[in-house]
This record gives sequence, C-alpha cells and structure tokens, in this order.
Amino acid sequence: MGIRNCKKCNRIFADDNFDLCPICRNGDLEEFKIVKDYLYDHPGADIQTVSEVTGVDTKKILKFLREGKLEIRDDSPNLLLDCERCGAPINTGRFCSKCVNEMEREFKSAISGNASSTKKDLGKNSDKMYIAERHKR
Ligand SMILES: [Zn+2]
Ligand SMILES: [Zn+2]
Repeated sequence: MGIRNCKKCNRIFADDNFDLCPICRNGDLEEFKIVKDYLYDHPGADIQTVSEVTGVDTKKILKFLREGKLEIRDDSPNLLLDCERCGAPINTGRFCSKCVNEMEREFKSAISGNASSTKKDLGKNSDKMYIAERHKR
C-alpha cells in the first residue's frame, strides 16, 4: 500500500483512496454530525446561527450542502445555495431540479443527435479496431 500526504494537514498516511488523512476525515465527520444533529432539532435554522451554535465554519456547512450531505427542508425560508447554472435558490446539491432536468434532456438529445449521423458508425468501427488491435498483441 502506498502513502500520501493529507491535503489538509500534510500528514503522511497510508493511501486508502482519500485525499484527507483519517484524522482530518474524522474531524469533518464530527462536524458534519454536529451540524446534522443541530438541524435535526432546529430545522430551518439559518446557516449563520448553525455556525455560531455548533462552532462549525459556515464554509464547511455550505460544503456539506453542496456535497448533498445536508439538505434544507423544503419549507425552510432560508435557501442558502444558488443553482450554479441559473442562480435559483436551492436546498441541496449544485443545480436546481429544473436545470437538472434540462441538462439531462440536453445530454440525451446530444447523444441521440449524434446517433443518427455517421458518428455512430465511426464509433462502431473504432470499437472493432480497438478489439482487433488487442487481439494482435
Ligand atoms: Zn490531515
Ligand atoms: Zn437552475
């Protein structure tokens, strides 16, 4: 097993596919638990209050939200996040549901748009070539 440097504290630790050492990861987990517990008891509390009460940095709380670890209740008046695409207030994650839908549609139409053209055939051919090449070796 290799070793790597913790991105946060630079401690060397056994590489287990994380950027942070177990100590820093635990710190994050602890803070996440504190915030989560507080929000469980005080749903809809705004981020400033949560930060003051729990002692967890607002940036970190926002990070939890961005990662979708925390979710603000739909009935909460405190929408803390903006959709990264259209700027609409959202509860969790990075995009509002409208943009998620739109992006999914665009993504699908991009695929099916290509499928009708020669690109699909090219894809097929390159697949075959790739397989043939591997056989030769
Ligand atoms: Zn660390
Ligand atoms: Zn949006």
